Amino acid sequence: ASRLSGVEMAPPDPILGVSEAFKRSSDPNKLNLGVGAYRTEELQPLVLDVVKKAEAKMLAAGYNKEYLPIEGLDSFRKATVDLLLGADHPAIKQDRVVCIQALSGTGALRVGAAFIGKFMPGTKVFISNPTWGNHMNIFGDERVEWAKYRYFDPETVGLDFAGMTADLEAAPDGSVVLLHGCAHNPTGVDPTPEQWKAIAELCKRKGHLPFFDVAYQGFATGDLDKDAFAPRLFVDSGLEVVVAQSYSKNLGLYGERVGALNLVLADAESAKRVLSQLKRIARALWSNPPTHGARIAAEVVGDPAMFEEWKGEMAGMAGRIAKVRGELRAALEARCPEKDWSFVTKQIGMFSYTGMSPKQVDNMTNKHAVFMTRDGRISLAGLSSAKVAALADGIVDSVR
Ligand code: PMP
Repeated sequence: ASRLSGVEMAPPDPILGVSEAFKRSSDPNKLNLGVGAYRTEELQPLVLDVVKKAEAKMLAAGYNKEYLPIEGLDSFRKATVDLLLGADHPAIKQDRVVCIQALSGTGALRVGAAFIGKFMPGTKVFISNPTWGNHMNIFGDERVEWAKYRYFDPETVGLDFAGMTADLEAAPDGSVVLLHGCAHNPTGVDPTPEQWKAIAELCKRKGHLPFFDVAYQGFATGDLDKDAFAPRLFVDSGLEVVVAQSYSKNLGLYGERVGALNLVLADAESAKRVLSQLKRIARALWSNPPTHGARIAAEVVGDPAMFEEWKGEMAGMAGRIAKVRGELRAALEARCPEKDWSFVTKQIGMFSYTGMSPKQVDNMTNKHAVFMTRDGRISLAGLSSAKVAALADGIVDSVR
């Protein structure tokens, strides 16, 4: 017998497990609304034209495959900070922004978690309820203590702002607060600008450290600047912040693993020391980050013409999602007018949180071949106009 025969099966990942079940299904009408990956109207993955252009340019330039510095590609790091704060932000000029390239948003969160574990021992991380499931894995695996704060109100299918602020108020002073920069996953429910201001004030008063997870910049409204409203507001109100960024969705670089961890700190001296420690952590995790995707992002953001083209393609993706949202709401209202379906278009980003129970989700999958996570989340990025009617039939059959 193997010396590892005592190792138990790990539970399947609640999100990626859905894709595996989808692949196994032989139903010709099957629909995968599980994973948050953009699809075209033909339900095919999309490589942006601007990415192809950048790759052609890179090939022509004949880049080598040498190791990058531990902190990553300089032009990528500059582009990434500019995207987050806006170019020419005073914090950049004051050298108090730390940026380290990471293995996409997940890797950035993981480096951040490791840093908190190492340099802020005993600090608790507060995570929204619900949240992206991997947040719990990431902080848990780093042995960082976490707890949940109230976020979603099933009654209003909106934000439980009173619950959220009460929980953050009750948290020990100086806690870390994990916030979704925009397009909250899985609920699609974001605070209003006024609510963001109040959350920033609360963090200031309590000495909390906001840790933004920015996985959808440009994907919520289709506009990079609008989607960076919250982290910029916090920085401009004088808070120190941590930000994990991902290019998976907005540049469609999912499998290339392109992202970064940023800290905006009060002074340049601290920034220098923190970067040195982040490098020490990354050195033992992946030594130095991958080159290809970082070069793509740097080329696109650094070239004014390509940057404009990217914005157009991003708005196109966000626009297609908004379009199927509208179509789905109309189809649901036509089939089941006694229920309020306005949440479908009120929610923002890739996802809609339908409020379906696990039993109803099982009906969606077993009877209607709609594959989705058991929390009732559907990815609208995986829905086409052609499939709206079938999906609406399935939802109405499942919730009635
Ligand atoms: N945070 C959130 C909230 C996400 O939804 C995702 C992607 N599903 C990520 C982080 C990280 O994704 P990636 O590692 O591909 O950047």
